[in-house]
Amino acid sequence: MKKVLITGGAGFLGSHLCDRFIHEGFHVIAMDNLITGNLANIEHLFHLKEFEFYNHDVSKFVHVPGDLDYILHFASPASPIDYLKLPIQTLKVGSLGTHNLLGLAKSKKARFLIASTSEVYGDPLVHPQNEDYWGNVNPIGPRGVYDEAKRFQEAITMAYHTFHGLETRIVRIFNTYGPRMRLDDGRVLPAFIGQALRGESLTAFGDGTQTRSFCYVSDLVEGIYRLLMSDYAYPVNVGNPGEITINQFAEEILAITGSDSKVIYKPLPQDDPKQRQPDITRAKEILDWKPKVERSEGLKLTLDYFRKVV
Ligand code: UDP
Repeated sequence: MKKVLITGGAGFLGSHLCDRFIHEGFHVIAMDNLITGNLANIEHLFHLKEFEFYNHDVSKFVHVPGDLDYILHFASPASPIDYLKLPIQTLKVGSLGTHNLLGLAKSKKARFLIASTSEVYGDPLVHPQNEDYWGNVNPIGPRGVYDEAKRFQEAITMAYHTFHGLETRIVRIFNTYGPRMRLDDGRVLPAFIGQALRGESLTAFGDGTQTRSFCYVSDLVEGIYRLLMSDYAYPVNVGNPGEITINQFAEEILAITGSDSKVIYKPLPQDDPKQRQPDITRAKEILDWKPKVERSEGLKLTLDYFRKVV
């Protein structure tokens, strides 16, 4: 039985990855220090003998006994308000944590995949963003702690690949949504759905004309799984190119929730990217992957989840 370590395993994406690898017949070790993760996301797995959970901060030395075939590094605060609250931890998990896990991968001869991000493109001057674009990031702005940690993570991962010959994979994840997002993580989807279900006004930041492209979590997990099993070591964008403004998104949330809430406007956070859309040509060519779940369907599935937790 192949063994995989998933850091951030109790988080939104990490927990869906745990489910997928269990489903594929792997032995799964989830590691998380639970500062933004939640055991409720994986409690349905605890009874399985193929599943283990380690409560550990990967910024400190990581020990895992026995063999490991794959390591997926998904630990990190990942929403703007989380990494504003936890700036040092965000920098450490992307840098020290990645270094520790690369060392572990090297000693176990495991294949290593990192969760990188569209944030490496910053407030992009190229649209849509392809993997050859180097980005427009403010290193000392409020998002710098996340963006630069992820850029360093890519750099050190590539160095282990070229210098040590480690098998590495880099996925650049664009906005993703689905069940198990935290209602209070500050991201636009949980914020809007929470507000709509509570009958509060929806808070659009700026004038709401900035754009994002939202990918349903099952599509993302499929792309990551295919990338891990491929032999491609360079970054691959995984996301849904369907781009909308935040104003349009607010209207969609009002429509699916049946809410008569208003949209109100709040100041735009500093360095908030004005537009974002993945160019997924590379993922199509190399992974034969493209998203399948329409936003209308994905939002319905996500709303079912949030109705239970609001
Ligand atoms: N946003 C918003 N209202 C909210 C939360 C977010 O208008 O209550 C906007 C935010 O300014 C950004 C977009 O929605 O332009 C997506 O924000 P999110 O925090 O989900 O992720 P980002 O893509 O910025 O990392």
